[in-house]
Amino acid sequence: MKPFAYDLTYEMWMEWMKERNQPAFRAKQVMDWLYVKRVDSFREMTNLPKTLRETLEEHFQLAPLQIITRQVSKDGTVKFLFGLHDQHAIETVVMRHNYGISVCVTTQVGCRLGCTFCASTLGGLKRNLSSGEIVAQVMMAQKYLDQTNERVKSVVVMGSGEPFENYDATMRFVRTINDSHGLNIGQRHITVSTSGVVPNIYRFADENWQVGLAISLHAPNQELRKKLMPISRKYPLAELLEACWYYINETGRRLTFEYALIGGKNDQDEHAHELGQLLQGKNCLVNLIPVNYVPERNYTRTPREQIFEFKRILDSYHINTTIRREQGHDIDAACGQLRAKHNQSK
Ligand code: SAH
Repeated sequence: MKPFAYDLTYEMWMEWMKERNQPAFRAKQVMDWLYVKRVDSFREMTNLPKTLRETLEEHFQLAPLQIITRQVSKDGTVKFLFGLHDQHAIETVVMRHNYGISVCVTTQVGCRLGCTFCASTLGGLKRNLSSGEIVAQVMMAQKYLDQTNERVKSVVVMGSGEPFENYDATMRFVRTINDSHGLNIGQRHITVSTSGVVPNIYRFADENWQVGLAISLHAPNQELRKKLMPISRKYPLAELLEACWYYINETGRRLTFEYALIGGKNDQDEHAHELGQLLQGKNCLVNLIPVNYVPERNYTRTPREQIFEFKRILDSYHINTTIRREQGHDIDAACGQLRAKHNQSK
């Protein structure tokens, strides 16, 4: 199978052109056609010599994703279900905020981590996505937004899959959408979320860039975290936090902790106090997420008032805490819900 044009970074296009004795500016031109003019074929790249267009056509394919469904929520959230070349399906979500439009991308087909509250992991891991397949999700979102002259402002790597188990493709993806010859999405507007693959948190901290990091914490102690997130057996909470403090110290950046509140499991006052003690004094933000209902999972949601109480307790430890605004409830917009439904109906 031919690689996707979106699989290549600008540096790789430079290399590719050089190998074919093409001038370096051809790399810029290709980036421009792909990401700024956003054409769907090499034929349309009219300022490239015809022979070069033909060579490109021979070596690459352009469209990694086919739209299976597109659902638009009353609140403007858009959820895509995309088909891949090998019949798998992935989800991508477009969200509208007051600070702009963000896209949530998927990095793997399924996931092998087995978090007990998550729909993405239900069928296990099928395969990693290539960087081009991740880039294509942003491109499909942008092409959709082009119809209304809108623009993708930020990207969160918070869809299905564990980006730090597909590290190289995820990093290449970030470099591609960040490149100033292409989509030019600012590093500060990109956030990668991990369940806590510790060695790659260190790697990420050493990348020397401004890309944001979020950690899916979901529990304030190892015993509980182990129950909710099997990955905590491999990388215990203490080791995870050590990596987090390393990240904060090395990068000087604020770290986000995601904490999904699950009724009766991790949402009690005592959990809030324990979390407060754990994170006190650190440069971090806690994002409280009312757990999304997953039919296959047997969870209740935390009552509104308890969520506020949880936040009040964290406030008393002077920890920045936000409560995630929910979007797209009417279209199954949360993690893996749409794909799970699609797979069931197949
Ligand atoms: N594997 C990475 C990337 C996925 S991000 C990670 O774990 O960070 C998706 C976020 O949604 C994670 O914080 C995940 O724990 C959370 N999540 C998964 N299922 C959820 C549910 N049912 N309700 C709320 N959040 C959920």
